[in-house]
Amino acid sequence: MTVASLVAAPEKEKSPSKESPGQRMLQSAYSHLDDAAERLGLSPGLHQRLRTCERSLTVGLPILNDEGDIEVYTGYRVQHTNVRGPCKGGVRYHADVSLEEVTALAQLMTWKCAVLNLPYGGAKGGICVSPNTLSENELRRLTRRYTYAIMPIIGPKKDIPAPDVNTDERTMAWMSDTYSAFHGEATHEIVTGKPLILGGSQGRAGATGLGVAIIAESTLKRNNLPIKEATVVVQGFGKVGYWAAYYLAQDGCKVIAVSDISGGYYNPNGINVETLFKFTRTSPTRTLEGCQDEFGVEPISNEELLALPCDVLIPAAMENQITSRNADQIRTKFIVEGANGPTSADADQILADRGIVVVPDILANGGGVTVSYFEWVQGLQAFPWEIEVVDKNLRHFLDIAFRQVYDFSERNNVNLRQGAFMLGISRVAEAIVQRGIFP
Ligand code: NAD
Repeated sequence: MTVASLVAAPEKEKSPSKESPGQRMLQSAYSHLDDAAERLGLSPGLHQRLRTCERSLTVGLPILNDEGDIEVYTGYRVQHTNVRGPCKGGVRYHADVSLEEVTALAQLMTWKCAVLNLPYGGAKGGICVSPNTLSENELRRLTRRYTYAIMPIIGPKKDIPAPDVNTDERTMAWMSDTYSAFHGEATHEIVTGKPLILGGSQGRAGATGLGVAIIAESTLKRNNLPIKEATVVVQGFGKVGYWAAYYLAQDGCKVIAVSDISGGYYNPNGINVETLFKFTRTSPTRTLEGCQDEFGVEPISNEELLALPCDVLIPAAMENQITSRNADQIRTKFIVEGANGPTSADADQILADRGIVVVPDILANGGGVTVSYFEWVQGLQAFPWEIEVVDKNLRHFLDIAFRQVYDFSERNNVNLRQGAFMLGISRVAEAIVQRGIFP
């Protein structure tokens, strides 16, 4: 059986009519898939199989709040496909979480895992909640109830959750404990991104940022540009942005501007990233607000930051930061996407026309899920790795993925985003063909 021989009339999913953020995200995920499917010449049946999630679960989550009253939240877990291995993906707590958003992110996880050649399919979960309105006890009860509600479909060989927006290793510890309690045995490998003491991996905290830095350096090298003194601008100073800036600065790049929710901070001679990070740890808002008074950096707006001339621009904050509104003002050579979906489709086109190379999220921020995979392997083998082993393997996986995406894109005369999607999607399609369609 070949990919093209799997024909069945596809019933196109309805396009979402109202444009909520989740629906926009889902539309964008579908458009990347549709474009790649056409370029790859996938049969309509196979294309439709890839468009459709294997399982979507919506759960009602009643909890008792601290006053003893009942509050009910809605949660989701979507599994896009397990064709290449168990499903893998984060759990986010956010007021914007919707079935559409989680579905889009589950699909993107499938392609990301395939690009990195990890033996996983994609999943994503979340609860529609503003977590900062809940006490720690309420959050713990909500997390345990959510874990209980999705328990029928998760498992260390079925679907392995991880942290995402507004969840962290504490959330994973609660999920692991709840799952283990119900199964009567310690099953820490049910989640990744756990505390080290519960089987977490060395290097997981900074893995996504380190991965972004490795991919940025590979991009410079591939284009015969020196890493030392390359100028770098980073939007977002959280788990991804800070570590990306930290590792690039360590390797001799000049980080000339960083930003967070409080605004941007610029010094053309270079910023001491670690010092600024220490500042955020002790500042009352836990942000960069006020750092200009102590560290000789000039405050600028986030719009100005994105338009600074530099060699590498790393959007590592939110989705949809570079759009048709500002794409013609961007003055970098390379955009390396630390965040998920920071560049809109119309901006992609404008940037391409202006000769700016975009290294897409499904390659550039894949370091996090790669070290999650290492954590899962360590858990299954009950054999923890030293940090040197984690770093060496991370570099190995990212080097291969980078080279494959670049070579594939050049061979097929497409941009890196198109190439990454085509490569990831073709691997999943090939796995479906090899397995055949049940029954
Ligand atoms: P985070 O919450 O740790 O950090 C986000 C940062 O962005 C913060 O510094 C925040 O102040 C800043 N920010 C928010 N709004 C901003 C704005 N309008 N302008 C400038 N800065 C703003 O989150 P994170 O884990 O670093 O995730 C960032 C992005 O990377 C998200 O898109 C996430 O989905 C993606 N991502 C994260 C990981 C991971 O392992 N953490 C892995 C893959 C992708």
